[in-house]
Amino acid sequence: LMNLTRKLIEIRSILLSIDQTDNLKLPSIVVIGSQSSGKSSVLEAIVGHEFLPKGNNMVTRRPIELTLIHTPDSNKEYGEFPSLSSYGKLEDFGAIQKILTDLNLSVPSSECVSDKPIDLRIYSPHVPDLTLIDLPGYVQIAGLDQPDNLREQISNLCEKYIKTPNIILAVCAADVDLANSPALRASRRVDPLGLRTVGVITKMDMVTPNEGSAILSNKRYPLHLGYVGVVCKAPKRGIIDRLSDNDPNMTGAIMKREENYFQNNKELFNKPGLLIGTDTLRKKLMEVLENSMSSCLNNITNAVQIEQEEAAYQFKVQYNDRRVSPESYVAEVIDNLKAKLRDFQGEFSKPQVREKLESMLDDRVMNILEQLYWNDVKLNDLGKNNIESDHDNYWAYKLDTARSLLTKSGIGRDSTSLVADGIRNLIEALTDGPPFSHHNNAAERIIELSHDILRDKLSITSDQVENALKPFKFEVDVEDKEWNKGRRHVLSALEGEQKECDAKLSEIRKRVGGYRKLNNIISYLKSLDERKLNQEAEIENDGVNNNEPAWKLAYNPAHLIEARQAMKLSERLAILKLRMSTLRSSKCKFGNGDNTKVETICPEAFLTVVSEKLAYTSSLFLQIELLQSFFDQFPREIDSRLMYDLDRNAINKFARENPTIRSHLDLQERKDKLEDVLKRLESLLHLKEQDKPKARRF
Ligand code: GDP
Repeated sequence: LMNLTRKLIEIRSILLSIDQTDNLKLPSIVVIGSQSSGKSSVLEAIVGHEFLPKGNNMVTRRPIELTLIHTPDSNKEYGEFPSLSSYGKLEDFGAIQKILTDLNLSVPSSECVSDKPIDLRIYSPHVPDLTLIDLPGYVQIAGLDQPDNLREQISNLCEKYIKTPNIILAVCAADVDLANSPALRASRRVDPLGLRTVGVITKMDMVTPNEGSAILSNKRYPLHLGYVGVVCKAPKRGIIDRLSDNDPNMTGAIMKREENYFQNNKELFNKPGLLIGTDTLRKKLMEVLENSMSSCLNNITNAVQIEQEEAAYQFKVQYNDRRVSPESYVAEVIDNLKAKLRDFQGEFSKPQVREKLESMLDDRVMNILEQLYWNDVKLNDLGKNNIESDHDNYWAYKLDTARSLLTKSGIGRDSTSLVADGIRNLIEALTDGPPFSHHNNAAERIIELSHDILRDKLSITSDQVENALKPFKFEVDVEDKEWNKGRRHVLSALEGEQKECDAKLSEIRKRVGGYRKLNNIISYLKSLDERKLNQEAEIENDGVNNNEPAWKLAYNPAHLIEARQAMKLSERLAILKLRMSTLRSSKCKFGNGDNTKVETICPEAFLTVVSEKLAYTSSLFLQIELLQSFFDQFPREIDSRLMYDLDRNAINKFARENPTIRSHLDLQERKDKLEDVLKRLESLLHLKEQDKPKARRF
């Protein structure tokens, strides 16, 4: 009348999704029996389809939670695996059988059974509203590849499920003595009076009708709910009773066979009190389940209320009733990322980029100076008043070479990768800490995305920058102001270099044991060098080396190495001093008119001016070609390539990667579901109350 079972089955499913403990359980029918007792055949007869795994090697390894949903208004029959939503609605029961087999076989045969249930729902106008749990069949002896404790494992698993308030469907084959039925034995242990056990005697056709009817008369091992006898051997597909194509439902064929059997022996089976046939079994199960559910109603309502109050309290205490949704969490994470990105964009402003490029080019200038000038033995002549015109050409040519080395050193490529590296590091830093530490996949995708964009722009930008620098490769016009700035700049750079050399030198002095000692070692080294030169000269003259090398080590070898280092540093310092004094002198001042000579005499200042111009121009183009377009495009690509294809499941999965959000969502969901269940239960109780007086009147 009020569809109680149906509604409670829905409630049961909700409760199962939030609670694995025993106190919020609504009853279900648990099917137990030994292997080959006909358990699967009975279940398939009830459903009307062949869909359970078949095979010799114990194919049911996990409990199957089978929920049957009666759909009177539709003639579609289909199954669904709620936890494997990708399969969708399966109208082909052969496909269901295949999936169930795979799911069962995913438990390795060395483990044999798992208590992780498989959830399967079947919708059909031909099934009653029922929940059934199919369990692995009891075995007598374990197979070779099966663990010794298999029997124990299976009975422990069954034990877990046959507790109250569940109804036990004990399946026994007619041709096996009931005294030997493991199903009945297990049931008697937990339900001695058989108040919640229904016996099913299968394979009635395998014993004589007399024996069959004697078993059903419920005398030997009486059960309060009694025994139902069935014959439900499915016709073999394609061999004898080929199923007609327009009746894929096998119920008809089974029922006919069963009906024939009982009809042929009606004098024995048509007795009052004897329960026969699959249809009777189906009705019996509906009735028993409905009664059991109905009697649970008050208890379960109370239990749910207690849980609901607790959940609501926790939600208030822990989260102050603040709700989260996976969608809002994802949006927040992405908004934060974009906001941080905007903040950090400041680090890539024009002056900042220019400064980085200048320091990259400063190094380059120093290298060129060292290579072309500071190692030149004629360096002392540079800037002497009486430079001959030959010399003039020599130094002018050098300056040209130096400028060319600088402007053609691949600045387009290098400055572009300098900035791209900066962006890469920024994105990596942004995706490194929380919340992305919980979202490794998302962090990886974000990084990939940024790399894609950078890769796209890299070569174009580098070409553009190189193009912009082209004029400097041929000629550089220097103005007064630039010259003075460059001169100051390089002077301070050289001062820095000088300080560094001084510091290193004094370190060495300390390590070697003082100024005087270092000088002694240096003089010693110098005399050695001289001797070596002389020897080489002699060898060259006579072709014979007469002198034994005087390899008497006067000093600690480590100190000798340090002293060599010190000699080099002193030479460098002398050069630096020389060059700085030239740079400071009036020779390096821009006069009026032609300044070519000043530039030639002061290559340090000239190259610095050039490098500043290069940095300025490069940074201008990098800003437009790389930085602006990256910071424009990246947030948009995050939206279109990352966010756009997230469906509900993916959003949920993402949010739940964060443990804080997961706990929050879990509690919130639990609270919501309990509230929903409580409302449903209260309305059922209300309906039941209304039903009562009417019932009494009759
Ligand atoms: P399970 O291992 O308990 O699930 O048993 P099955 O349902 O797979 O049945 C085992 C064997 O008994 C199969 O070959 C069935 O065809 C056969 N069988 C099941 N029910 C009947 C029945 O009522 N009569 C006959 N003759 N055979 C049956």
